Amino acid sequence: MALNLFEGKHVLVFGVANERSIAWGISQAMHEQGAKLGFTYLGEALERRVRPLAESVGSDLVVPCDVTRDDQIKEVFRQVQEKWGRLDVLIHSVAFANREDLEGRFVDTSRQGFLTALEISAYSLVALTREAAPLLAEAGGNVLTLTYYGSQKVVPNYNVMGVAKAALEAAVRYLAADLGPQGVRVNAISAGPIKTLAASGIRGFREILGLVEQKAPLRRNVTQADVANAALFLCSSLGSGVTGEVLYVDSGYNILGM
Ligand code: NAD
Repeated sequence: MALNLFEGKHVLVFGVANERSIAWGISQAMHEQGAKLGFTYLGEALERRVRPLAESVGSDLVVPCDVTRDDQIKEVFRQVQEKWGRLDVLIHSVAFANREDLEGRFVDTSRQGFLTALEISAYSLVALTREAAPLLAEAGGNVLTLTYYGSQKVVPNYNVMGVAKAALEAAVRYLAADLGPQGVRVNAISAGPIKTLAASGIRGFREILGLVEQKAPLRRNVTQADVANAALFLCSSLGSGVTGEVLYVDSGYNILGM
């Protein structure tokens, strides 16, 4: 696909952990479309993974960021301002819940477990979008986050992450309303299950993959590339009239009633 949809565009990506990350699939696709990319990483262990990936797409911006740390968030956007002076696209592909909260009964979720999941998986979108907004407004920019169907319906073991994703999807709508007047769009992709580091924390994930293959209208699981194609649409001029939307990229699984 040679459209050069992102020629001259600056894209900042939160959430690459390794080459399987959904965020990396999106990064590669935007790179192929001419984007200039910047990356953040969580901790030194992941830095070793993220730096070579960033280099492979010619990135000049690789910055540490734990989204629970306001000082680190501020420093990321200070560097974006200094290096690029503007931002066209913010990719938020970050989520976390304690492992013990991704199994058993949701009712047993601890206060701390709940707050952790909601802070990292939902509030972080608000915090990042607020810091990015002045830079995005200059460029008529885009914010994109990743969500999952467990926000709408009960999925075994997804538990507190389902509640966090429900908050995230509502945040997308409120942020879209806030930033729309400045020409900034905010959307989410609700991806079908994909084998990644984060997914490996969910008990019974393999069974979910099997179920989709068996039941979804397209009779297959989606890939990082499927999600990336939708991201190209939403974050480029092709999606110019779309904001506050949750777009399913799930082989159609969510349309089934039974
Ligand atoms: P992943 O493990 O590759 O990505 C998750 C990322 O979150 C990692 O890069 C990790 O470093 C980052 N992260 C966690 N805590 C953080 C913190 N405190 N500060 C900064 N970063 C932090 O897995 P993925 O599947 O690519 O997940 C990306 C997004 O896609 C998540 O929001 C996830 O919920 C969503 N999603 C995944 C699936 C799936 O089946 N894999 C389906 C739908 C939605």
